Amino acid sequence: MTTIAFIGLGIMGGPMAAHLVAAGHDVVGHNLSRPAVDRLVAAGGRAATDTADAVRDAEVVITMVPDSPDVEALVAEVYPNVKPGTLHIDCSTIRPDVARRVAAAGAEHGVRVVDAPVSGGEAGAVEGTLSIMVGGDAADVEAARPYLDVVGGTVVHVGPAGAGQTVKAANQLIVAGNIQLVAEALVFLEAHGVDTGAAVEVLAGGLAGSTVLDRKAAGMRARTFAPGFRIDLHHKDLGIVTAAAREAGVAIPLGAHVAQLVASLRAQGHGGLDHSALLLQVESLSGR
Ligand code: NAD
Repeated sequence: MTTIAFIGLGIMGGPMAAHLVAAGHDVVGHNLSRPAVDRLVAAGGRAATDTADAVRDAEVVITMVPDSPDVEALVAEVYPNVKPGTLHIDCSTIRPDVARRVAAAGAEHGVRVVDAPVSGGEAGAVEGTLSIMVGGDAADVEAARPYLDVVGGTVVHVGPAGAGQTVKAANQLIVAGNIQLVAEALVFLEAHGVDTGAAVEVLAGGLAGSTVLDRKAAGMRARTFAPGFRIDLHHKDLGIVTAAAREAGVAIPLGAHVAQLVASLRAQGHGGLDHSALLLQVESLSGR
């Protein structure tokens, strides 16, 4: 049994922390809003009063918070207050350069750091089948693996510090483009009076099949856009992709266009909806 501080118990962190409790670990949770902490306690975890309280006796610290500034603020608070040798697994999706900075700060404080962003959405977190792309030193990644295996189905060491975040950025590029095209296909099919249920069934069996089609099309057809993965977060991630592509001198013409579509949907006040709400914009552009 390991004492794990889990910070950020939202849509993803909540179920991930509960899996670690079920695996027999002593999980001490902290979150900005209290109901999420209460859910962890109901699942058998412990409540911390604040971040310092959560990490005091922890051997492992896991963070699952929204954005790069959230992680950097936590690192500034946590690293001076943990035992030397503590393992920090950051599962948040943040900028690769920030992940490298966090790893360097860890080295200064004797904290072992891995970046371990996840893919698979809320369903993957609930089912414990996330795909986890891990960056860091090989020995630290191996130390993190037993915990990542509890919440993940596919856990791959992809390179040094920051590499996990670079792979996650590529993941977000693919997912955004896929959702946009599934949305366009659904509106196209409806406009032609085709039964979209039957169409999705046959599309899923061919080369057009995808996890997005399997997991998002039903909600899109029913116009239910409760997150899931908020447009606000995908906007953040496409900002990461755009900056990282520019840094590397790589053209992402389609990705840049989808980033604009996501930004537009957000500007229209839909930032709190699931990213599958890109469908609404296709309808509006089509006058439907
Ligand atoms: P969320 O908004 O549901 O949860 C984030 C939680 O972090 C909130 O409950 C918030 O109160 C808490 N928090 C923020 N700062 C904190 C702090 N300083 N101390 C304690 N708690 C703090 O977001 P989410 O959907 O769970 O996403 C979390 C991360 O995972 C993001 O980086 C996101 O991009 C990534 N991600 C999300 C999904 C998804 O489908 N939702 C999938 C893969 C990756």
